[in-house]
Amino acid sequence: MRRYDLHCHSTWSDGVLPPAEVVARAHGNGLDVLALTDHDEIGGNAEAREAAAALGIEFVAGVEVSVSYQDETLHVVGLRIDTEDTQFREALAGIRRGRDARARRISESLAEAGIPGTYERARELAGNDELISRAHFARALVEKGAARDTQSCFKHYLVRGKPGFVPHAWPELGEAIGWIRAAGGDAVLAHPGRYRFGKRDMRALIAGFRELGGAAIEVVTSAHTREQIGEFAALTRAAGLKASAGSDFHAPDESFVDVGCVMPLPEGLEPVWSAW
Ligand code: AMP
Ligand code: MN
Ligand code: MN
Ligand code: MN
Repeated sequence: MRRYDLHCHSTWSDGVLPPAEVVARAHGNGLDVLALTDHDEIGGNAEAREAAAALGIEFVAGVEVSVSYQDETLHVVGLRIDTEDTQFREALAGIRRGRDARARRISESLAEAGIPGTYERARELAGNDELISRAHFARALVEKGAARDTQSCFKHYLVRGKPGFVPHAWPELGEAIGWIRAAGGDAVLAHPGRYRFGKRDMRALIAGFRELGGAAIEVVTSAHTREQIGEFAALTRAAGLKASAGSDFHAPDESFVDVGCVMPLPEGLEPVWSAW
């Protein structure tokens, strides 16, 4: 059986390895098919594709688009996108433009809580001012001794109701799905178990996602427990959607699941790659 990992990050967003190293690591772990899905950014796909070709591993161009939906931020993975699509590139550039101002506000909020200088460090860690992510702030906070690891940062900081959280307006769900489809890609609802919705709202989200042209649900992800994999497998089948699987790998010492080490999809699901 071919092994797929259709969700991971490089230094083009908040991963710590450059695209070629992500690909080499996935290859070393015995993976057959990899998608690189940086946040709101497709610039790493060219390097990853080249590295994959050199190693003989199959590559899928990807992205993970940030979305505002009700009071929650959702992530929609785009797979098999045309990375030359001008409109899509412009849409993503537009999303990235909001990130620097947001980062400065996150930093102000943390400074008010007694932790100064996080913008400067997060920006250094990001290596640019276009894609500063909360993951960079989490790493800066760990360095400053504010938390023991990035996981606990997201308990005490950077989330709603805590210092370092600032509301931000990302594109709407329909816009993100529309851009991905217009660029020839399949839209996948990423790690649904991370969204704080009850059963009824989750069903409504999945139904709405399908109506708007979404193709698949990320059933297998490092963010899901075994129980959640079962729950989302059932919801995905019931909605008549396909299923995807990805590690959401960011860094060797931050991830529960290494790139390329993704569990197979549960039985009875149609994989997102079935028609590729
Ligand atoms: P942003 O797109 O700037 O809001 O940052 C979101 C990123 O922060 C995610 O892609 C993860 O890399 C990281 N993140 C968010 N929540 C958590 C969490 N609970 N634990 C670990 N990392 C998280
Ligand atoms: Mn991330
Ligand atoms: Mn995500
Ligand atoms: Mn991700």
